Amino acid sequence: MSQQEFEMFQTQLRNAIDESDLKEDKEAVYNLLANPNRFFEVNFPVLMDDGTKKVFHGFRSQHCSALGPTKGGLRFHEGVDAGEVKALSGWMTIKCALSGIPYGGGKGGITVNAKELSEGELERLSRAFIRAIHPYIGEKWDVPAPDVNTNGQIMSWMLDEYEAITQKQDIGVLTGKPIELGGSLGRTEATGYGVGFTVREACKRKGIDLKGATVVCQGFGNVGSYACKWLNDQGCKVIAIANSRNGLYNKDGIDIDALMTYYEENGNDLLDFPGAEYLDKDKIFDIPCDILLPCGLGGAITKENAGNIETKVIGEGANGPLTTEADDILTEKGVLIIPDVLANSGGVTVSYFEWAQNLEGYPWTEEEVFEREENLLVTAFNNIYDLMEKQHSKNMRTAAFNYGINRISKAMKLKGWY
Ligand code: GLU
Repeated sequence: MSQQEFEMFQTQLRNAIDESDLKEDKEAVYNLLANPNRFFEVNFPVLMDDGTKKVFHGFRSQHCSALGPTKGGLRFHEGVDAGEVKALSGWMTIKCALSGIPYGGGKGGITVNAKELSEGELERLSRAFIRAIHPYIGEKWDVPAPDVNTNGQIMSWMLDEYEAITQKQDIGVLTGKPIELGGSLGRTEATGYGVGFTVREACKRKGIDLKGATVVCQGFGNVGSYACKWLNDQGCKVIAIANSRNGLYNKDGIDIDALMTYYEENGNDLLDFPGAEYLDKDKIFDIPCDILLPCGLGGAITKENAGNIETKVIGEGANGPLTTEADDILTEKGVLIIPDVLANSGGVTVSYFEWAQNLEGYPWTEEEVFEREENLLVTAFNNIYDLMEKQHSKNMRTAAFNYGINRISKAMKLKGWY
């Protein structure tokens, strides 16, 4: 995947810049954004439970710092490599710019099957990674956060290690922390709820009533589960869900609150949930629905399965869930695709709120967090949708890139980068 993902980012950038009104600056802006400002790899040893030392390979990409410190998650996954991390950091740059927050994009990770590690190994891995990258991150420089297979506990170990090295309590150096260590209320729900806010706006534009609208969701981790919950609370019927192992189907709608409890108690497995029938996970995209939420890993919808999809709105909870070909097939079919850089931007938006609260030393209420998140996302959605119509953009992704690039290019111009 990886290198392919990076090329996909560059194609999306090219399409948007071609369509923009940057005129003679097009090439300069493309060249500044096509590759990260700074990218590095680290190799470091970790003591394993059996007494051996294993060398791990990690990456961090600081894509573009024109608008502020670079920002983005750290993922622990076997598929992590240079191309993937660079692509994801580029998407973060666009995501932060279009959300209106003062950040550039970053992303990092370690090539590892985190599920095979014991808790002790995971802690030593997290701490060792911070020892390797600490000179290059910072509260006002590059701010990591959770991503695939990383969470508040991992952020806590990383924060502790960082503080031990720097002898300073700069808690804003990482976001996605537990509340006790300066995390923000609402951060856990933020990404999934944000998917919900943007899907609701898309449905308004398409004339779809959320009450009774059918939802199919692929991926039931943090993003998928809270997106389903939010839409279910608005009266949608979530009829099918799959994760990387199993699937569920219920034509009358799955009880999401019950499923979330079951899922946690059942070792993150959907299997044998009493409120639905078993569904082969590979059939998830064959089920017709009004709203489709790909919330798992990148590259889930390809030219092989895109043809079978019957839906009206896609909310990309995951990063890069549609390949370029799948994107073209579904755009051609008239599906309104809310691109990842907008649909899942609620996570980084509330990470920014967490950082702001840390710098200010004063916590906000949950109501304030959700209200401000909703305002930023709804504004971004409507501005991007209107831009798409005004510019006759190919789709919302191109318009979203354009909207973000407009802000970044102005900052780069002012800083004298071109
Ligand atoms: N990993 C999340 C993303 O892809 C959040 C990043 C952050 O909070 O900095 O948007």
